[in-house]
Order: sequence, then structure tokens, then C-alpha cells
Amino acid sequence: MNKIETEVIIVGAGYAGIAAATKLFESNKNFILLEARDRIGGRVNTQKAENSGETIDVGAQWIGPTQYLIWEWVKKYQVETFDCYDEGINIYHYKGKIKTYKGTIPKMNPIALLDLGIAMERLKKMSKKINLNAPWSIANAEKWDGITMDSWIRNNMLTKAARSAMHIGLETVFACQASEISLLHFLFYCHSGDDLDALLGVTNGAQQTLFMKGSQNLLSIVAKPFQDKIIFSQVVNSISQNGEKVIVKTDNLEVHAKKVIIALAPALCQKIKFSPTLPQRKSQLFQRMPMGAAMKCFVIYERPFWRNKGYSGQIVSDKPPLHVSFDCSKPDGRGILLFFVEGKNARDFIERPLEERKEKVLSTLQLYFGNEALKHLDYIDKCWTEEEYSGGCYAGNFTPGSWIQFGEILRSPIGNIHWAGTETAIKWCGYMDGAIASGYRAAEEVLKS
Ligand SMILES: Cc1cc2nc3c(=O)[nH]c(=O)nc-3n(C[C@H](O)[C@H](O)[C@H](O)COP(=O)(O)OP(=O)(O)OC[C@H]3O[C@@H](n4cnc5c(N)ncnc54)[C@H](O)[C@@H]3O)c2cc1C
Repeated sequence: MNKIETEVIIVGAGYAGIAAATKLFESNKNFILLEARDRIGGRVNTQKAENSGETIDVGAQWIGPTQYLIWEWVKKYQVETFDCYDEGINIYHYKGKIKTYKGTIPKMNPIALLDLGIAMERLKKMSKKINLNAPWSIANAEKWDGITMDSWIRNNMLTKAARSAMHIGLETVFACQASEISLLHFLFYCHSGDDLDALLGVTNGAQQTLFMKGSQNLLSIVAKPFQDKIIFSQVVNSISQNGEKVIVKTDNLEVHAKKVIIALAPALCQKIKFSPTLPQRKSQLFQRMPMGAAMKCFVIYERPFWRNKGYSGQIVSDKPPLHVSFDCSKPDGRGILLFFVEGKNARDFIERPLEERKEKVLSTLQLYFGNEALKHLDYIDKCWTEEEYSGGCYAGNFTPGSWIQFGEILRSPIGNIHWAGTETAIKWCGYMDGAIASGYRAAEEVLKS
């Protein structure tokens, strides 16, 4: 067992861990970053497609205009970005009928449209009441945390079409079923990411901008000045602390330091043995933030041929498993269509053989765009529930009833252990921007103490 002495240990080289490292590096602190995988990025992963050579982000890919921290990095390192294609007509496939529409809300009958509009306005108003620093502290917290979003939709929305659209939107944003999260968690998350429109939107929304070379490339550039401090393929399996120092162990390393920043999703912390054991409320919290399930299915074409037919490439369908798609083609480049499969559908779809999944995606696209949709260069899909060191995505969601009991301990340091990771963010929780904010906050806690 090799022994290392340092001042601060960071566990996890995702956006949160690297953000924490930048602050420690700027302050001339000695630190070591231990990462389980053999690469940087965590839930961010850029891959090269075999036939077309296109770079695609199988993990996080978009940034929105109000995600100021990640934009600071983009500007500082002059990383090239492009805007997600958001022109032309969108497709809405509901109850076997294919319709087209413009804007964010699919064309449905006027009563359903009114139903959806009223529900969205009510949710937006309620979300503004959430105190982002302490969602558990607001007047209705207990009541709202006790209602699942599924119950809220059933009790407050009248039409099937509007309910269906709400479920699809929710699954796309949270990567889980409406029955898995509370109204309070939904409202917190919406407010954390500005509002529901921003979470769902392309232009001016969270799906506005992509990276030419992928989101993992930006992180590698940020980490370059201290890349010698990152040790890969080191799965942290135990952390002990004795008041003065912490000892972090992997299979072949023992690192001694004054402080540790754990930059992992709470659910993954359950795999680490803490000594002394963590306060019971903290270890119970780890059990109450399960990861969502999302799968990205990319099809790469010679050109974005659907644009010539006037289509945006954005599809909303009530037919599982392929509910939502986007055009992620680079300007003047190949055509890249992305379908999301989320929650229950992702867990089911990944259990089908690859050939069957590919056939399903291609035949679905053929239905909307004709036979040209079959002439593809690459098909790539990835389901994050299969990733041992992520456990799912996009983030860990608080289960119903958990914010009010466990929210207060989410970010609080325990002795010399500090907590980062996008799940602990106040703004843009669940996103790369939130991960950066959480890393900065944890590093500042360490520097102040
Ligand atoms: C399919 C998908 C699509 C997404 N889309 C977007 C998007 O478009 N825009 C956006 O902003 N966000 C998106 N997200 C969410 C975004 O990826 C996350 O919010 C963000 O990357 C989380 O960063 P993090 O550093 O908090 O956690 P992580 O990225 O999970 O980093 C944690 C790190 O810890 C490592 N680790 C785990 N266990 C151990 C251990 N025991 N010892 C050592 N290391 C360990 C992991 O390998 C990982 O590198 C998406 C995520 C996915 C998967």
C-alpha cells in the first residue's frame, strides 16, 4: 500500500471535483484528486463515432444562457460552442396521430391546451415560493413533500392529453417517473434551474448551447494545470477521520490529509465505509436520493436531411420508449439526431438487444421522416444505469418526504469531510453548472476553515 501525505483530498473528477480543485490550486493548497474511472468527467463523457468520426456527448451536453459559472470557463478557455438547431416545425405524436407544431407546447385540443397552460402557470408560481437554500423551511413544505408529482397531476389536471404532455416533460427533465418525486422536489428543481420553461426550452433554455469538441474536452482543459494531481483508477472505499486528519483508502493507496471533499452523488457515497460511522441522518439521506435513469440514442447521418423538409428534428411522442428528440448537428456538419429514453422506459429498453434498440430507433425515425432516416452512418446508445461509478442520471432525486427530514444535512460538513456534487447545488442543481457551484462552495469551506 503506497502512502501519500497532502493537505486536501478530493474524491471524484467530475465537474464538481475539478471545480473544487481549481479553487485549491489557485490558493496554492496541496491536494490530490482520486478518481475511480480511468478518465475525467464522470457523468460527462465525449465519444467518437466509429464510422462518421463525429464527437458526441453520451452524457451531459447542453448549457443554458443563465448557467453563468460554466460560461465563465467557456469564455476563459475560449472553447468553441454552437447553438442547438431550433428552427422549423416540431412533431407531436399522440394516440397514433402525427401532428406538427411550432414553439415549446405541442398542438392539442383547446381544452387540453388550457389545462396544460393553467397547470404550468400554477407550478411556476409555486416554484417561486421555494427558498432554494432551505426548501424544507417554507410554509407548505411538509404538505408539498408528501404529494408525489403523479398525484398532483391526477388531482390538478383534467385532460389526458395535458397530463400526458406533463409526464413526458417531467420524465425528460428528471429521468424518472412522476411517482418517484414529490411536488416539493419538482418545485425546488424548477426554481433552481430558473423555471420550468428554462428547463424544457432550447432557445433561452437549458438545451440552448453545445460544445464543438464535447463537454469532456472543456473539463480536460480546465484541469490541465493540475492534471498531475489527479490519480485515476482509484476507487475510494474507506474514509476515516480522527479530529485532526482524514485517511482515505483505495485498494492500493492510503492518502493522509487535513480535509476531504467528496464530489460524488449521495447515492454513491453508500459504497464508502466511513469511520467513525456518519451521523445516522446523513447515511439515511444517502438512501433517499436514488439516481434517475436515462438513455441517449444517437443516429448520425451524412446531412441533417430533415431540415430540408422543414423539420426541426424535435419530436414529442406519447409512445414509449422514444418520447423526445433533438437535432444536435454541428453547423454545416453531419446530421445528428438524439432520442432520449427515460425512467422506466430506459430501464426496460436497455434490456433489449442492441440490434433491436437500433431497429426501433431507426424505424421510429422512418415513420416521421421517411426512408432517408434508415440511411445512417452510426447508431450509438448509452444507458447510465449501467455505469458503476454513476449509478444512473441525470442526478440523484430526493424521494417523497425526504427534503423535509434530510434536506438540512445535505451540505453540512461532518468533521473534516465536506460535500460537493451537483445534488448539493442551490442553483442549477442536477446540471454541470450546479456541479461547478458545489465544488467552489466545498473548496471555500475548506479554505475558510
Ligand atoms: C445522459 C446525461 C445527460 C445529461 N445532460 C445534461 C446536460 O445536457 N446539461 C447539464 O448541465 N447536465 C446534464 N447532465 C447532468 C450532468 O452530467 C451532471 O449534473 C454533472 O456532470 C455532475 O457532476 P458531478 O461532478 O457532480 O458528478 P459526477 O460527474 O458523477 O462525478 C463524480 C465522479 O466521482 C467518481 N467516483 C464515483 N465513485 C467513486 C469512488 N468511490 N472513488 C473515487 N471516485 C469515484 C466518478 O467516476 C465520477 O467521475 C446529464 C447527465 C447524463 C448522464
